[in-house]
Amino acid sequence: MNGPSSNATILVVDDQPANLQILAEILQNQYDVRIAINGEKALQIAQQNNKPDLILLDVKMPGLDGYQVLAELRRDEKTCHIPVIFVTAQHDVDNETRALAAGAVDFISKPINPQVVCARVNTHLTLRQREIAFQQLNAELENRIKERTRQVETLNTALQERATQAETANAAKSLFLGNMSHELRTPLMAVIGFTDLLQRQIDEPAVLHKLSRIRKAAGNLSSTINQILDFTQIESGNTAQVTIDFNLAAMLHKINDTIEELAVAKTLAYAYDVDSAIPANLNGDRVKLEQVLLNLASNAVKFTRHGAVSLRASLIEATGEEVKIRFEIQDTGIGIDQSLLEHIFVPFEQVDNTLTRQYGGLGLGLSINRKLIEMMGGEMGVESESGKGSTFWILITLKRSQTQPAVASRIPPLQSLQTNKARPRILLVDDDFINQELLKFLLNEAGLQCDSANDGEEAVGMVKNTDYDLVLMDIQMPIMDGLAATRAIRLLPERRLTPVIGVSANAFAEDKDRCFEAGMNAFLAKPVAPEVLYSELAKWLIKNDR
Ligand code: ADP
Repeated sequence: MNGPSSNATILVVDDQPANLQILAEILQNQYDVRIAINGEKALQIAQQNNKPDLILLDVKMPGLDGYQVLAELRRDEKTCHIPVIFVTAQHDVDNETRALAAGAVDFISKPINPQVVCARVNTHLTLRQREIAFQQLNAELENRIKERTRQVETLNTALQERATQAETANAAKSLFLGNMSHELRTPLMAVIGFTDLLQRQIDEPAVLHKLSRIRKAAGNLSSTINQILDFTQIESGNTAQVTIDFNLAAMLHKINDTIEELAVAKTLAYAYDVDSAIPANLNGDRVKLEQVLLNLASNAVKFTRHGAVSLRASLIEATGEEVKIRFEIQDTGIGIDQSLLEHIFVPFEQVDNTLTRQYGGLGLGLSINRKLIEMMGGEMGVESESGKGSTFWILITLKRSQTQPAVASRIPPLQSLQTNKARPRILLVDDDFINQELLKFLLNEAGLQCDSANDGEEAVGMVKNTDYDLVLMDIQMPIMDGLAATRAIRLLPERRLTPVIGVSANAFAEDKDRCFEAGMNAFLAKPVAPEVLYSELAKWLIKNDR
């Protein structure tokens, strides 16, 4: 225990000068000693600016006695903390108890023993100094806590501001992307659609070759726009799962048709094999699963110059309600170096830039694919060897479907529309005259009759007067938009069941949801490839052969 500092001040109070002298002599070597000959004088000294650190107080004095002086000291907040030791000849238990109850810190009996005085003074000064140090530390800690709390509050406010800014920025980003997508999709639809029309009307090989290049470039641009939108939707957590009943074989056939064509064009062998133990009808997010498989299979063809590409589906596990399937897409292409295997799932990363230039692409496909599969509760990975080829795999659990999903007709949709005897009448609503012209061509080519309206209001008027077999409805239009027009059509008692297909360049999931909420039956995102348009029309017109 460290001793008290020697510059401590001690006030000695006694009505007997001899006692004062003895005590002063004992203490003055070590401390600054002041004396008071009575209680009044003692209070005066105690209240001065330079307060004593300890008081040795006689109990029995004329005028104010020790108890009264102590009471006064304790009443005043400037002096209430000064430790007081009673010095008295009455050292019985009662007096001692009374003194301690009154707030004295100790008791020294007369006749005075110098060693006892020194030891007690020393102890109480040390305790007092500790108390003061503790109080200072406490005050300092409180200040620090206050300062920290203030800092945390400031940080919280800043974080809240940041969060609000981020939300605003995110909303602005979505709006910008929505607008950008709209502005890019509308003209792209015209490029794709008119190229398709020309391809069907022209026989000259050189021109057809150029047209196929235009069609391919437009297709790539379209998938780039879709990838960027998919990526931002996934990043912002806006991608919802849409589970439906579907036929696995029908879905794989569709993928095969596309991939086989791509593989044949590169003289690659293409094989596909589906485990016959997998139940035919399943339930899950078919659209996303198909998107991922198609993407992996296109990559396999893209990165393979010689050899073969294959798509396999095997049953891993089956219960009464669920089936676990492993899909494998294997190629004998360029392969991927071991050290780079995980990089390819990172957004915008590609194995090396020379390859990017050679093969094109944004480096978003795989990261989107993996996220989509994970969202469905599945896993996705790759095994690969540089120069030998790659196997991308997906492990996914799908539900068995309780119903028998309709298997899409294998007759090409355009042909099935053309052989439709009824010559259905379509109302085409679009404010963009190039798109109107394109869709008119495409509809006429399918043998459909077609009227057109330039905005929603005009469309509602026409639907009132004519019982159209189907309405193709643009969304963003002046005067009345496609959503309001559909709602108005649904209020017409005779037209509640007329199929309305939304055709929009706003292709976010929310845009689609809004269309269904307004009462539309289906949704097509621009650019609509002609075969997709025909297949959607066939679905509604052939079913509704009214
Ligand atoms: P992109 O959308 O640009 O095609 P992906 O995310 O689909 O990008 O692929 C990222 C990179 O992974 C590709 O640039 C390529 O380097 C590599 N990769 C993907 N699939 C294969 C494959 N089957 N064989 C070899 N490399 C591949």
